[in-house]
Amino acid sequence: MKMEFISKGLFLAFLGLLTACGDGQVKSKNDGGVVAQEQQTFRWRMVTTWPKNLPGLGIAPELIAERVEKMSAGRLKITVFGANEIVPALGVFDAVSLGNVEMGHGAAYYWKGKVPIAQLFTTVPFGLTAQEMNAWLYQGGGLELWEELYARYDLVPTPAGNTGVQMAGWFNKELNSMDDLRGIKMRIPGLGGEVFQRAGGTAITLPGGEIYTSLQTGVIDATEWVGPYNDLAFGLHQVAKYYYYPGWQEPGPTLEMIINKQAFDSLPKDLQEIVRISSRATNEDMLALYTAKNNSALEELVNVHQVEVRKIPEDVLRELKKISDEVVSELPTEDPLERKIYESYINFKAGVENYHEISERAYINTRSELE
Ligand code: CA
Repeated sequence: MKMEFISKGLFLAFLGLLTACGDGQVKSKNDGGVVAQEQQTFRWRMVTTWPKNLPGLGIAPELIAERVEKMSAGRLKITVFGANEIVPALGVFDAVSLGNVEMGHGAAYYWKGKVPIAQLFTTVPFGLTAQEMNAWLYQGGGLELWEELYARYDLVPTPAGNTGVQMAGWFNKELNSMDDLRGIKMRIPGLGGEVFQRAGGTAITLPGGEIYTSLQTGVIDATEWVGPYNDLAFGLHQVAKYYYYPGWQEPGPTLEMIINKQAFDSLPKDLQEIVRISSRATNEDMLALYTAKNNSALEELVNVHQVEVRKIPEDVLRELKKISDEVVSELPTEDPLERKIYESYINFKAGVENYHEISERAYINTRSELE
């Protein structure tokens, strides 16, 4: 499989060289090797954990591919494959790491069985919001640490989407105390899942495309997915009655694009930058999209579909926060890089939280009080 890919890659590279010359002659190196490389065309494949064209999450890979193709004037063409088209939804990390495909789009917490510490690069229960995640990643050293971690797997990571604060999820019975979580089988990935498990529930990681049927057939009793915009599109209101908030488990998850390191290194510098910038622009666009669409979707869920929106009781949230702090503190092993990532996250959070008390939080509270 891998050999087949490599020889195909070489063939495509050779084709690219031919295209670059235009006259069907391969130029010699002395005849401007740099020019040849700059004009070389690349055809890549991107696999994703999302169903094809899913609103929000699922459009990010297409958007990145379109942007890269336009900005590179067609020198880098990326074909996007939805979950299970050529690779299973949760097989994206391995496929890109092994170089079977060049790129993938998903979320780092889906690989918690392989790289538990990588969950910090998606989201932490009661952790950083979207704005704060971007600040940590782009300005607080987070992205460099992520790159260092993923280099171990021959991957280059880039932030590639954020949903903002999610909803706590869909339940068919009311949550009044911690007792109501016991024995519930819930689709809840990442660290939120660990916390839920420790609270007495059973946490299950399922890709988005399997949630509806699993809830309908009783394979799971409850689920979280994203927020109104995505949850409405999946029809989750048809299989659950109560819609709980706030999304303590995912306060601002960063989605990732991963690129096979050898493939990335083979690109000329300008194409590398185009890939990074396309991903970064999409990271920002997705947050804007959710911010713009969530409220009208929520209104439709409540007014048209009679969904009951409930807040998780304070004492349940307090207990979940206590468990979360334990779970997160147990995450890093003795590995120095893991400790560095953990400390970077925790220190950044403490600082940003402090200032946000008198800025973001104070402002939003004031605005609501005066409304
Ligand atoms: Ca979620």
